[in-house]
Amino acid sequence: MADAGSRSIPVRNPRTGGIDFDLQVAGTADVAAKAAVLRANQKAWAAMGLAARSAVMARWLGEVKKRAAAIAEADAEDTGGCHTSYLQGFITMGNIGGWLEDASGALAKATCSGPSKAVPSVEVRTQFVPYALCGVISPWNAPMMLALLDAVPALFAGCAVLLKPSEVTPRFTGPLFESVRAVPELAAVFDFVTGDAETGKAVIDNADVLCFTGSVPTGRKIAVHCAQRLIPCYLELGGKDPVIVTASADLERATTAVLRGAAHASGMVCFSVERIYVDERIHDAFVARLIEKAKAVRLNTDNPRAGHLHPFTFAPQADIVRRHLDDAVTKGAIIHTGGQVEIHGGGLYMRPTVLTNVTHGMLIMQDETFGPCLPVMKFRTLDEAIELANDTTFGLTASVIAGSEAEALPIAERVNAGSVFVQDTFLTFAKNRTIGTNSFGFSGVGGGSRTGPEAILRFVRRKALLTQHGAPADIQNDHHLHGGLAKGTNP
Ligand code: NAD
Repeated sequence: MADAGSRSIPVRNPRTGGIDFDLQVAGTADVAAKAAVLRANQKAWAAMGLAARSAVMARWLGEVKKRAAAIAEADAEDTGGCHTSYLQGFITMGNIGGWLEDASGALAKATCSGPSKAVPSVEVRTQFVPYALCGVISPWNAPMMLALLDAVPALFAGCAVLLKPSEVTPRFTGPLFESVRAVPELAAVFDFVTGDAETGKAVIDNADVLCFTGSVPTGRKIAVHCAQRLIPCYLELGGKDPVIVTASADLERATTAVLRGAAHASGMVCFSVERIYVDERIHDAFVARLIEKAKAVRLNTDNPRAGHLHPFTFAPQADIVRRHLDDAVTKGAIIHTGGQVEIHGGGLYMRPTVLTNVTHGMLIMQDETFGPCLPVMKFRTLDEAIELANDTTFGLTASVIAGSEAEALPIAERVNAGSVFVQDTFLTFAKNRTIGTNSFGFSGVGGGSRTGPEAILRFVRRKALLTQHGAPADIQNDHHLHGGLAKGTNP
């Protein structure tokens, strides 16, 4: 593989289509060198304890606050002006601030201390030992947020973190790591390397635990690589998220929620609504109103802060969306709005694209589209709707919109997804700090949730310290062992 500085990747600006960033590819030796420094520094970081680490993180929060505007601009340049980009400074502050409040409580809740139930003369204590080096490999959508969602709790837990952002969206690292370098104790344990898959592989080669957000095919390779190294990995992969709209649903509410859920961020969100199932009794009225609302959505071609939809962040994604639409039309689907990749000022855009006459034989109802597409399919019975919603290899989020919560909740309980939003869509942010989840299918692999306070436990090993306050059993009279086994407890 290339040595430091010997290879670079031209990075395309999503709004102009021009190349305006030269990404230096870190070679295996560069990655190993950074990893070694981080690993050495992590010892002091872990030893200082959570309270002292939190004080450092609080200073970092202050440095992020000073740079919130620059962070927003850099992230917006990366994405092409996604609405969420402009909130990245605040989202990061919320991430750090949330863990400042939650980390000690989450670890305390997982702590055990007191006499063993099986052998009361033995006192049990928990010790948390962080993994030395956490590798984070992140995608091109929501680039800063998804780089930090796992990195921040890992740092609170006492890990050092080596981040490899997507080669498509590296600009946010400038102001972000300026804020990190303003806090030397943090800079000692938090660094990044730029590059593509080869650099990502080198990160895995050096990590003790790995967090990956990205596509299913890459996730599969990363799982194999981590398995070969026998290190734990947490994979947050894509989605094909359904919404079920029942006959009693309020049309205004349902169409507003569905449009936002499918088209926010131009559909380039892992938990975007990608499949819409509507009771046949309201299907036509629903589609008519959805089309009206979709037509009112504006592109942000002139001013990234003004319109609703930004260009494709990653140009090849436009080809994937076009392929899904072509496949759907060839198989009988009807496109009512949008449907074209439009070029404005060099950027590739698509308006909200409402489709009907879709079936599960089409790519657009099976594979992740990651564009502002709203394929609507009729259902006759709720059983059929639930069967269709669950007919997927994914299971990240889903939504149910009915005339009442009482009607929607039992449907939500039957849909296979890590989160099911009731009477709305796109409520993922409401999970943060509150509740942990496990996705179904390919959407989330590795066990631990990345939301909710227990997310921090992914980055520590729970160690037990066991003190015998009584006399040690002798080998001929090992009653305590038998007592423990009799209660079904491992000695
Ligand atoms: P991707 O899988 O192409 O790449 C993600 C990252 O992996 C990049 O940094 C890339 O350089 C790196 N990489 C590629 N091959 C690698 C390898 N063999 N070893 C190590 N690293 C490697 O994903 P993407 O196209 O950047 O992101 C879009 C995808 O991410 C979509 O599928 C989307 O659904 C998914 N996503 C999932 C979630 C979630 O939480 N479930 C959130 C956001 C995005």
